[in-house]
Order: sequence, then structure tokens, then C-alpha cells
Amino acid sequence: MLLEVLALRPDSITVWRDPRVKRALSWYWDVMRDRAPARYRIADAIPADRDPRGLDTRELWSLHDRLSQRALEEWRRVREKGLAWDELEPVEPSFLDVKTELARRILRECVFCEKRCRVDRTKSNRGACRLGAETIVSTYFLHMGEEAPLVPSGTIFYGGCTFKCVFCQNYDVSQEYPYPGEVVDARRLASIQEKLRRKGARNINHVGGDPTPNLHTIIESFKHLRVNVPQIWNSNQYQSVEGLKLIRDLIDLWLPDFKFWDNRCALRLSLTARYRETLTRNLKMILGHGDIIIRHLVMPNHLECCTLPILDWIAANMPRDRTIVNIMAQYRPEHKAAAHPERYPDIARPITGEEYQKAIEHAERLGLLHSLV
Ligand code: SF4
Repeated sequence: MLLEVLALRPDSITVWRDPRVKRALSWYWDVMRDRAPARYRIADAIPADRDPRGLDTRELWSLHDRLSQRALEEWRRVREKGLAWDELEPVEPSFLDVKTELARRILRECVFCEKRCRVDRTKSNRGACRLGAETIVSTYFLHMGEEAPLVPSGTIFYGGCTFKCVFCQNYDVSQEYPYPGEVVDARRLASIQEKLRRKGARNINHVGGDPTPNLHTIIESFKHLRVNVPQIWNSNQYQSVEGLKLIRDLIDLWLPDFKFWDNRCALRLSLTARYRETLTRNLKMILGHGDIIIRHLVMPNHLECCTLPILDWIAANMPRDRTIVNIMAQYRPEHKAAAHPERYPDIARPITGEEYQKAIEHAERLGLLHSLV
């Protein structure tokens, strides 16, 4: 595998020679090399003291929030003092069991994401993501096309999404219902993750569509995972506060996609309201909860309304030496933007070199760590 990786992506090795990358991704680096336990292992070693199934939901959240603080302290201690990944013993019931129980209850009145549909997904699939209780894995494989520090990335593509982007490149698995793929339970999802790690994955990369509607299965899968592997949340980052609280103690590296600044663009192009306030709130919520690479796809004609103010916000709100920004140039019209260019004339073409250059120069002026990966 190492030879294959070296041939296909030599930058996946050389990128680690850059001290800025190593500092920004220091936690991920340690877990990737099995020098530290992934955060889900820490959560599963924290005792819950009380059986979560016997508590009402208010008591359960209160217990969750106390244990979350404890997990954070324990994680900081592990970072400072070091701990072999297999030194932690899972306990019953653990903080992870509290999260599993809360996720199961939310599923009956779903607010995993900020669309807050409140549908009972155990009985219906009429929320905006059109997912019932089942989790569908469209495909999984060792992805060689992700950012250099991530490849080979054990990528799991979930069917269904909370957005309806008119330019989506994966619309066949994210928007075309019924979603194609295999229905998986938590045990099967854990076995997929183990298989990917054993084949040489540096990480497990939960993506879609979007992973958020599958929080319940993903969290429960950690209970069955017998390997140590960094967890990546590769998402539109549109979780509700509740959804994000459930997952944020378990993720080692965040890969949020910050698409729009102007809410009118988000509504027109992704059919999503309250975009900017949700994204900025959630980015602040994950600060200090794992390493971060923010992705931003530069879109044609959206430099002034979206790209430049997004970079300004990141520079003003995220620690510059701990946050990498991947400014992406690969936009091309797909899906409705390709089929109906007359309806979406602003995004009916790829970006120009000049547009990309402007974005890069702006990031440079702001002193952002960008394009390192
Ligand atoms: S995950 Fe989001 S879109 Fe799907 S049902 Fe729940 S709240 Fe609605």
C-alpha cells in the first residue's frame, strides 16, 4: 500500500515535512499513527454512572453535558501526557452509550440538522433529507483524491443530504430518492470501518450526501469498532446544536464545507435557510474539539458576495496557526446548473484563473494557512 500511495500521491508523504501542517494537524497525526487513542475511544472509557435508558431526556442531556466536559478534560490530559491507544478500557454504560441513547430519541422527532423537521424517522421519511431510520452506504473505498494529509482516506459515502444544491456533483446519491446503496446497521458500519483501516486507511472519512442524518448509526458504530482510527466529519456542517453536541466529542478532524456568505445565495443555490448564522455558530462550536481543515469551493461570480467575506470571517474568528483553509478551484457546473444554465447563469461556467488568483491573494493578505494540503 505504501508504494502505491507513494506512486499516486507522493504529496501525502511530503506534506508532513511542512511544520505548519504538522502543528495544525498534530492530534490527527498522532491518532493516524496509533500514537494516541481516537476520541471515540476516550468517550467509551468514561463511565456514565447511571443507565441512560432509565433517564428522561432532560436528565440525559444534563448527564451528557457533564460527561462532555469530563471527556474534554481527559482528552486534553491525553494530549499533554500521552497515552497508548490500547490502554483505555471501554466501560458499560459509558459516555458513548449516553450519546447513542440520545441519538435514538432524537430520531423520533428529528433535529439532527438545522432544518429541524421534527418528523418521527422511525415511522416516516418525510424530512428534508428523505431518510427514515435506516442508514444507506452508497459506497466506500480508499479515496486517493482527498487532501494530501488524508490519503489514502477510508471514505464512506452515505446516501441522502440535508441540502439540495443545484450544482451538486454527487446528486445521484444525495438527492435522487430512493438512494442507491446498502442499508447498514451499526455493526456493519463498524465492520466497514475496520476493513478500511486494515487495508491502509489513514482515517475514516464520513461524507455523502451528508453524514449528519446518520448520526445515530455512526455514533453507535463506535461501540463496535475494535480498531483505532481517526474520525473525520466531512460535512456541510449544518448540524443543529443538539446534533453537533452529540458528535463533537467523537471527531478527530473536522472537514467543514463553507460554501456561502450571502444567505440569498444559500437559499437559491442550496435551498437552505439560515445558512451563514448556522455555519459560523457551528465553526465556533467545534473550535478546540479536534483539528480543522475548512474547505471553500470558489464559485464563478461569487467572489465578492461569498468567497472574500468567508475568508475575512475565518481570519477574524479561527486561530490562524490551527486552521487550514483549502481553497478549491475545481468547480464545474453539474446537475441543475448544467441542465438549466438559463436558470443559473451566474454558476453556469467553471471559474476563471483570475477569480481563483483573487481568492488566493486575499487569503495571503489575511495570513491564512491555505493551499498547504
Ligand atoms: S436530518 Fe435534518 S433534514 Fe433529515 S429529518 Fe432530520 S432534521 Fe430533517
